[in-house]
Amino acid sequence: MRGTVLYGPRDVRVEERPDPQIIEPTDAIIRLPVTCVCGSDLWPYRGVDPVTQPTPMGHEYVGIVEEVGSAVRTIKPGQFVVGSFFASDNTCEICQAGYQSSCIHRQPGAPTGAQAQYARIPLADGTLVATPDLPPDDLLPSLLAASDVLGTGWFGAEAAEAGPGKTVAVVGDGAVGLLAVLAAKQLGAERIIAMSRHEPRQQLAREYGATDIVTERGDAGVARIKELTDGLGAHSVVEAVGTQESLMQAIRSTRPGGHVGFVGVLHDVAIPGKEFFFSHVHLHGGPAPVRRFLPELIELICNRKINPGKVFDLELPLEQAAAGYRAMDERRAIKALLRS
Ligand SMILES: [Zn+2]
Ligand SMILES: [Zn+2]
Repeated sequence: MRGTVLYGPRDVRVEERPDPQIIEPTDAIIRLPVTCVCGSDLWPYRGVDPVTQPTPMGHEYVGIVEEVGSAVRTIKPGQFVVGSFFASDNTCEICQAGYQSSCIHRQPGAPTGAQAQYARIPLADGTLVATPDLPPDDLLPSLLAASDVLGTGWFGAEAAEAGPGKTVAVVGDGAVGLLAVLAAKQLGAERIIAMSRHEPRQQLAREYGATDIVTERGDAGVARIKELTDGLGAHSVVEAVGTQESLMQAIRSTRPGGHVGFVGVLHDVAIPGKEFFFSHVHLHGGPAPVRRFLPELIELICNRKINPGKVFDLELPLEQAAAGYRAMDERRAIKALLRS
């Protein structure tokens, strides 16, 4: 099969790779008609996360089940399925509590790399959710978004306790931030403030339900959120970047008693203890348990109630994956979809 491999900073190649095989009896092999590049792929791409060996890339996937192992019971060949970046049994106590991304049997969701034509998915019965029917082609981008960016934005909004009567602010205007806006709207938030300096992203944020746009960042961004909320700060803030500046901006934009949902992968972040102590802010986040939300998200997408696939503003053949990385790295694209 063809698959994407990262060799080092800004050196991503599409090359011939071994076809994935069933290894464990709980595995499934799926064919991936579409796949995509994630904002989190940019950490190793930029060399922030060191790349020590050629690494198959991609962890967001949807596709048709080709083959299942002998112990797979509910997932069947021919089904269209959505999974996410961690495989989980969906039965242990942690999974049952809704934290499948910390499953006691957690494994990478697509260990063979999902920016490829095929992938091996461990713990297929627990990890994969089948759509009711084979979805039409135009729903594939939205279903693919459910695999990570929508599920992650949704978790961010839930962790921030977005809901009726709440003012929600979203730090970060990547795909996850934009879809956190969509999630906050679906969860019934009264007012949604998107923090973005990029016109096309502001427009999509508005389409997804943002009522206000704040272009300032850092201390000036915090001051602007306070101004918009009678000096109090937002009830709920979603942090979808993962830097020191963005997390502090999120904490400082939250009113006492409010909640921060942090879903940007934190890199070299240190929270000043005393400031946090006196903030009275709840922090909840981490790798999103996307599996918890998949049944509901699939239903919303298949009934065309939401259109998260609009975050894909660049579409390329899989062979041109490197161009997708470049466009996202240079912020010319929000998110690149790859067709195989
Ligand atoms: Zn991702
Ligand atoms: Zn589990």
